Amino acid sequence: MKSHKELLNKPYAADVIERFIRYAKVETTSDRHAEGIPSTAGQWDLAKMLEAELKGLGITDVYIDEHCFVIAKIPASPGAEKKPAIGLMAHLDTSNEVSGANVKPRLVENYDGQPIELSPGWTLDPDEFKELADYKGDSLIVTDGTTLLGADDKAGIAIIMSAVKTALADKSISRPPLVIVFSPDEEIGRGMNAFPLAKLKMDACYTYDGGRRGEIESECFNAYEARLVFTGKSSHPGYARGVMVNAASMAAAFASMLPRAESPEATDGWYGYYHILEIHGAVEKANVDLILRDYAEDGIARRIEAVKQMASAVETMFPGGSIKLEFNKQYCNMKKKLSENPIVLELLYEAANRAGAEPYSKPIRGGTDGARLTEMGVATPNMFTGMHNFHSRYEWASVSEMVLAIDTTLELMRLWAERA
Ligand SMILES: [Zn+2]
Repeated sequence: MKSHKELLNKPYAADVIERFIRYAKVETTSDRHAEGIPSTAGQWDLAKMLEAELKGLGITDVYIDEHCFVIAKIPASPGAEKKPAIGLMAHLDTSNEVSGANVKPRLVENYDGQPIELSPGWTLDPDEFKELADYKGDSLIVTDGTTLLGADDKAGIAIIMSAVKTALADKSISRPPLVIVFSPDEEIGRGMNAFPLAKLKMDACYTYDGGRRGEIESECFNAYEARLVFTGKSSHPGYARGVMVNAASMAAAFASMLPRAESPEATDGWYGYYHILEIHGAVEKANVDLILRDYAEDGIARRIEAVKQMASAVETMFPGGSIKLEFNKQYCNMKKKLSENPIVLELLYEAANRAGAEPYSKPIRGGTDGARLTEMGVATPNMFTGMHNFHSRYEWASVSEMVLAIDTTLELMRLWAERA
């Protein structure tokens, strides 16, 4: 295993740190309540910054489309023009679960393994986050405890940018035709609805949206969103007997039926879940938005059926009340489609091995834009970026792992370019 020090000494370590910190400071929180793609204006700011920087690297075919996708097409190195075109992709937005405004990233060099005080009352403590013990001697980037960091997915963007810069400057690194994509609204599962597939020629793609070193993800949940609208009947509470139907109570009854053993906080590994994102309402009307996750196709079908049955039971319990249900598919498990084009994953493993990243497979307990892209016909596994505790104030990024991801990317370019 390569040491932190060995990785931190790579010539592009400083570049990826500088980029990461700069991108993390741009507020790009997406908003599931907003209409349109992108859902928030901040994503344009980062998109424009990246467009300018890609042009600055000498790439001529760079643009931002009407939905804030940043697209750059990079010609192959001499001799590799006929090789498959490979996409490298990361997302612009950050989760809205924690504020992404005024992010103040801080570089902790030569981490000593001790608790890191982010700000008074907020400590990144190795007692609580055990994996920190593995990062003694690494450089970490942390928050000030008031916001998330946004390593998800600015780490991915910084890695791709540094890898492209390195590949363009170093003639010894061969590369196939490359398509760089920075996408909007991944966190709200919506950006890919506007993916400009018809305009891009990509034979395979890789998303940079994973965690610790070596982590490669080729399997994810089947994912649905369910929106329930409960309609009741309002009346004066003093004269409500036999008249009032309380939609808020209906929503509460529904929520209490969901099996707690099948919630995100009670599951890991291969177990799926139901997760309430939001409940709001009053007597006349209430809403419950939830997400359903399951690795198996019959499992997700069962969950959809269970939600229908529970809603029907609540309707029976509250005569006069009614419930409307809407299910939206968000993404599906990419495993089956990826296995139809095994070379895409094989070369990623080979690249990670050559880089010394010790690759291993892990199911994503979420999804990626890659799952959607795979479904559209472009095999797209996901790889590590060094992000940790994402969607949280305790989010941090490992610089050595970002460097290792750059090494892996350069090896991946070589493998695709030199493949017979
Ligand atoms: Zn992400």
